[in-house]
Amino acid sequence: MNAREPGPLDSFVREFGALVDRGADEAAIFREGRALLAGLIAQDGWLPQALLEPDPDSYRIHRLHVDPAGRFSVSAMVWGPGQGTPIHDHTVWGMVGVLRGRERCEEFGHLLEPGGPLVAGDVHELAPGDIDLVSPSIGDIHRVSNALPDGTSVSIHVYGGDIGVIHRSRYDEAGKATPFVSPYAACLVPVPAS
Ligand code: FE
Repeated sequence: MNAREPGPLDSFVREFGALVDRGADEAAIFREGRALLAGLIAQDGWLPQALLEPDPDSYRIHRLHVDPAGRFSVSAMVWGPGQGTPIHDHTVWGMVGVLRGRERCEEFGHLLEPGGPLVAGDVHELAPGDIDLVSPSIGDIHRVSNALPDGTSVSIHVYGGDIGVIHRSRYDEAGKATPFVSPYAACLVPVPAS
């Protein structure tokens, strides 16, 4: 696909924007927006090759689109073998859809109250086409890693804000929170609808 031609990401951003324009609440985002994300990750070949390449040092987050009003963002995360996030939260709703490879998700919750010790929850793997949901209302703390020992995994993320600048927290195993911002990777590749 020529990067200058409208592609699946353009359609997704337009339709997701219309959903947000309509004033969709979190439940509607998780119902209708999830269906839009499922449609996007059902297609492959629309991300420029340069954005599919893992960095040998760390997972990368590529900014694909940030709503001009900051109401949502779309990003791509690329994981090399053995790479993963710290335990972290998001502070906004989020949807994670796997495009390629396989991702492992470990959920955590506060044992008693916000700010208290963490307790481990469900552990599961996501295959291409699978979508995970996070938000402060349904569970917002997890750790994500590449489940492939020798391959690259790629996921498409949609958040209720500009995830590259949101101030949030990462946690140690004991639940101690540390301020955390996960900036976008430097990206010199034009992406449709960005
Ligand atoms: Fe996350």
